[in-house]
Amino acid sequence: MSFQAPKGTFDWLPPRSERVLAVREALAAPLRRAGYGYIETPVFEDTQLFARGVGESTDIVSKEMYTFPDKAGRSLTLRPEGTAPVVRAVLQHNLHNGQLPVKVWYSGSQFRYERSQKGRYRHFWQVGAEALGAEDPALDAELIVLGARGFASLDLKQVRLLLNSLGDKNCRPAYRAALQEFLRGLDLDDDTRARIEINPLRVLDDKRPEVQAQLAGAPLVVDHLCADCRAYHEEVRALLTASGVTFEDDPRLVRGLDYYTRTTFEFVHDGLGSQSAVGGGGRYDGLSEMLDGPPLPSVGWALGVDRTFLAMEAEGLLGDDTAPRRVQVYGVPLGDDARRRMFLLVDELREAGVSADLAFGGKGLKGAMKGADRSGARFALILGERDLAAEAVQVKDLATAEQTEVPLAQVVDVLKEKVQ
Ligand code: ATP
Ligand code: MG
Repeated sequence: MSFQAPKGTFDWLPPRSERVLAVREALAAPLRRAGYGYIETPVFEDTQLFARGVGESTDIVSKEMYTFPDKAGRSLTLRPEGTAPVVRAVLQHNLHNGQLPVKVWYSGSQFRYERSQKGRYRHFWQVGAEALGAEDPALDAELIVLGARGFASLDLKQVRLLLNSLGDKNCRPAYRAALQEFLRGLDLDDDTRARIEINPLRVLDDKRPEVQAQLAGAPLVVDHLCADCRAYHEEVRALLTASGVTFEDDPRLVRGLDYYTRTTFEFVHDGLGSQSAVGGGGRYDGLSEMLDGPPLPSVGWALGVDRTFLAMEAEGLLGDDTAPRRVQVYGVPLGDDARRRMFLLVDELREAGVSADLAFGGKGLKGAMKGADRSGARFALILGERDLAAEAVQVKDLATAEQTEVPLAQVVDVLKEKVQ
């Protein structure tokens, strides 16, 4: 009986795993260029951080958290998202007492006990960014543009940006009340009726067709925005347009919790079926206060790396990655003395910046040359007893089959030149 990865999880194996590293890098690169600093928080946190920071009424907190007691009886939770931990870290280390906004980005695993299916996993990876401590439409626009640039740098063509505003503490209460009144008149199950009272915006997000059908005439938040929120939203839209980032107004795009304010957005990809969101975010002006901090108006997003990868696959951007070029040079030592010498030579090559590997396990010439072919190397270094005695090595160009003898003392320089 052999072990399997837990349900809802999977392994990234070479050579694909190299591609996913590159995807994470590509999504982060625009953030680095915009002055966002890297932050790393623990993979687990105090359960209460998420209960408050994500919200008891959300699916994440009510159903999806990996919560466990540690040996001292503390309740800990594997992080299901990155924003609450980042806000916690900023407050804990007083970063908000320095220059504002505090701009940070992260890259890491998230854990949610979800119904696993393609694009929806229990362990997945996000690249995220948060800008804390400034209320400025240019900051919302900056983050959205940086997300769009990240996807574009991967050559993704079918990512769409959906945009909405949720209003603020001045105009949202009246909208919330109007929405509740509308929803109470619908034919809904008990759970959904209960949600109307706690978290009515979330009902708009219900994916079931029988619910969606009844929501056609629901009041929209855009029709209830106060003058300030309207002006703010228009400025975000204008900056996006000026940046050449296309978006679609989606008046039904919501985030459920009261501390989410104003700008909200989602990046979706049409090649992914029902798991279409490749990223999402928005402004969360009240979260710091929920976590006992001072008012700290902030905006952020998280992009799903796994779904981004699936989107690339759907657009045919991954190509054929079955034969990767792993190393440039491959050592073929014949005999014990040659093996020791080759071990050192390969180390020297690597230190000189040439990627190199060698045959292990005491293989003979035929087996070792097969390894050289499979390694994708351009050059094989063949070292036998006679070569050793002559202080030389045979350099075989695996593309042309041409073989030359090179003095051992010069081979690192010669190869450095050849692999340029
Ligand atoms: P969805 O509506 O698809 O459940 P979400 O609103 O829960 O997404 P967020 O919490 O905003 O997603 O997370 C940001 C991004 O992380 C999503 O847009 C998605 O790309 C990715 N993501 C979220 N949950 C998962 C998951 N279970 N597996 C893989 N990626 C995920
Ligand atoms: Mg979800």
